[in-house]
Amino acid sequence: MTIPPGGVCAPGSTLVNKTGGWRTFKPVYDYDKCIKCKLCELLCPDMSIDPKDDGFFEFNYDFCKGCGICANECPKDAIEMVLEEK
Ligand code: SF4
Ligand code: SF4
Repeated sequence: MTIPPGGVCAPGSTLVNKTGGWRTFKPVYDYDKCIKCKLCELLCPDMSIDPKDDGFFEFNYDFCKGCGICANECPKDAIEMVLEEK
């Protein structure tokens, strides 16, 4: 990617930069514990959590950076951070 003078990037540029490769740990759902409260979706700073048709959610591992906020804030401990296999 070319960054113009001043360091301003074009809108939407993050969509072409798949930042999931930065991850060390990845979040994994335990759907048996999830109560579909949506908190993880709301708090993810990378908007890497997508709703599914059944009301549960799924991670977009192309962009999830593994920060762990979703796992820390889930009221039901329904998200586990597991070591990424590369
Ligand atoms: S925060 Fe936890 S309980 Fe709420 S939707 Fe996400 S995984 Fe499910
Ligand atoms: S680990 Fe961080 S970036 Fe990945 S889904 Fe959870 S809150 Fe979003």
